[in-house]
Amino acid sequence: MNVVDELKRIANAEDPTAAFHEAMERDPLLWVRFLRRHDANIIDALFLDKDYDIKDEDIKDTVKQVADFFELPVPIIKERAETIAEVITSDKAEECQLYYDWREMEKSGINNREALILACLHELAHQYLYKTRFLLFENELWIQELAADLLVGAFSVLNGDVATGKYKFVASRQKATLTHPDGKLREEVVIYGRKYVENLLQQKRYQGIKDILTGLPAFVYSHYQELQESWDRVSLEDSAKEPVKPTERKPIDYESLPDTNLLKQYWLKHKDDKKTEDEK
Ligand SMILES: [Zn+2]
Repeated sequence: MNVVDELKRIANAEDPTAAFHEAMERDPLLWVRFLRRHDANIIDALFLDKDYDIKDEDIKDTVKQVADFFELPVPIIKERAETIAEVITSDKAEECQLYYDWREMEKSGINNREALILACLHELAHQYLYKTRFLLFENELWIQELAADLLVGAFSVLNGDVATGKYKFVASRQKATLTHPDGKLREEVVIYGRKYVENLLQQKRYQGIKDILTGLPAFVYSHYQELQESWDRVSLEDSAKEPVKPTERKPIDYESLPDTNLLKQYWLKHKDDKKTEDEK
């Protein structure tokens, strides 16, 4: 039982005080674990509150639970080394593919059930948002990442206060790249997503996942300068890079991707940028 459920059980017991003392005797760290569940720091993330018994089956169950939340079919799940987790979205949701590497996840800090469900939620959010374009900022990919993390924050509230500490730690460590915004912003949008959905619930205005996304524009605009400066830096660094040496690996054939694919859209945009620059 996770710590939040345990405390709920105590609160609903016939004699809560006795139940609390009994629980604390059994598990002296119960209250400490409750207090630190949203803390994003290296010690808590990497070394404490780990689940050591997570098997492939548990991961599949977790993905199924997340798919149900989004009312999506369960994606094709594959284990593959290289990255923590990664999704290949598709215009047919049942063809969506989710890749993961449990050992990499564990090493990075996604090392208990609560962090795992949030990581899966982030990945499947991309399939959920497959047809959504926010058009709030020039790099749509970044906004898609922030939207996925906004949903992570909201889900953590809607699903009975899932601990966000480890997830936020892992996200916050990522540097800004062409496809992902700076991790600190990702951590912030998780926190914002929690507050936003708490407000919706309080005002009885929450009716479904789409309502959560109504919070995204305000977050983007209130961080616009930060986003813009970061994006200017990343795109400048990228244009200054040495051309990549051809490798064995086949390059992605962007042309063949569907027009709704985010990578293709980015590639098309970038291609046009180049053209206009050449024309200058
Ligand atoms: Zn993502």
